[in-house]
Amino acid sequence: MKTMLFIWFVLLLPPAAHAQESAEKPEVPVDKWAKKTILLIGAHADDDAMSHGTLAMLQAHGNQIYIVTLTTGNVGTQDPHLSRTQLAEIRRQEELAALAELDISGEHYINLGYDDGLLEFEDRKAVVEKLVRLIRTIRPDVLFAFDPGKRYQRWHKSDHRTAAYLAADAARAAMWRLLFEGQIIQDGLKEYMIPEYMFYDGAHEDENLWVDIGEFVEKRVSGGAKYVSQFGPGWNKYKAHLSEAEVKQMKDSVRAAIRTKDRRPIEGFRYYKGLPDSIGK
Ligand SMILES: [Zn+2]
Repeated sequence: MKTMLFIWFVLLLPPAAHAQESAEKPEVPVDKWAKKTILLIGAHADDDAMSHGTLAMLQAHGNQIYIVTLTTGNVGTQDPHLSRTQLAEIRRQEELAALAELDISGEHYINLGYDDGLLEFEDRKAVVEKLVRLIRTIRPDVLFAFDPGKRYQRWHKSDHRTAAYLAADAARAAMWRLLFEGQIIQDGLKEYMIPEYMFYDGAHEDENLWVDIGEFVEKRVSGGAKYVSQFGPGWNKYKAHLSEAEVKQMKDSVRAAIRTKDRRPIEGFRYYKGLPDSIGK
């Protein structure tokens, strides 16, 4: 009898080892997160915009948010009169203005300065090394990154595809003491494993977490409206100052792009908790 009871007990136990390795739901709901350090890695100065409602909420709830952008965005325009240098500066200012709308400090914006459109052809080891240094320095509780895909590779446009893999590769490398060990031996950093992940812009069927951004829609809208060179009238012919009607047009288009679920405004993610090695499983 005792043996039978023991067998039942074992059968009813959750698969503990597996549960420790990965989880698809955060223990604490995202809208209750506080005092966490959040790092977002994107390719361009506006890739964070698809998470702006969630980021505004996390900022309002007392989390520390850092935004890392890999390229300067110095190619993304149809205006024949803008130079790369001008566009890079414009996009930096737009990003800082957007982050200010979310109450995120400009000091938490880090741009690694790569050329727009060609990230895939950069020295990937060098990019990963820089990201590993940032991860070991910032030591985020949560990484926001483009979703490299679950089980199958997710197709993204070039820089986004590369940013997805570079972020996951850097998260993995950061935890190994003997990788980029100069950072540890010479610079006093420590290896670090990021425990939680929020992957954005993945396949919708891979999403497992939807953040209700109802209270923060206006922040997302006013943040998104700062990317004048990317959307609306500034795309073909850049101008620093928009008319009231043009600003409204931009805000309307940002608002129209917000997804809904059960009639609530949401941002969708693939949440993952566990070893970086298993990010795609
Ligand atoms: Zn982008």
